[in-house]
Amino acid sequence: MAGQFGLDPVAITLRAREAYGPGGSLALPLTAGWPIFPFETDGLRMTHLRDPVLPEPPRNGESAEDCSTCRLPDDDFAWTDERWLVSMPAEPMSLPGVVLHSRAHLDFGDLDDEQAAEMGVRLIRIQRALAAIEGVGRVHVYKWGDGGAHLHIFVVARPVGMIQLKGMFLTTWMHALPPLDPLTWAAIRRHVGTALGA
Ligand SMILES: [Zn+2]
Repeated sequence: MAGQFGLDPVAITLRAREAYGPGGSLALPLTAGWPIFPFETDGLRMTHLRDPVLPEPPRNGESAEDCSTCRLPDDDFAWTDERWLVSMPAEPMSLPGVVLHSRAHLDFGDLDDEQAAEMGVRLIRIQRALAAIEGVGRVHVYKWGDGGAHLHIFVVARPVGMIQLKGMFLTTWMHALPPLDPLTWAAIRRHVGTALGA
């Protein structure tokens, strides 16, 4: 299935299995030696690499008709305008995190140049809104799109000084740390809506 410079997922999988060590798995990744790696490595091992699934199963909301984002009323979002939506759950999370969505049922690669430019402006505004919160050290942006089909880009604030949370594992820590207190969360949510409205 791969062209001269394409990816062959079956070959990648087989090569990886051939690289299994005596323990029957791949060696831990280089990141396991980084100071930000969030797990103790004693006894840690890579999971078995499963077969590729082709064609891939559909994501949530592949069509606008069964898309939960498209069905949400504007009141459920922290901020909206004619073409963009910003969500922040009412229930506290461990760290301030907001999600930028297009109002139209689009995926990342569907944006035309004008929409892409609008997206960039809104991401920077969200970054500034989160960076203005006391105690925020840095603001991170990440986009996967493997779970839900409707465009959604995450923006997350890392607390200042918590340098152990730097980088890619912030998303792991987010799910491990306890939630912020509800009053703080609600105030941050209001702040984001106000900041973006200006
Ligand atoms: Zn949608």
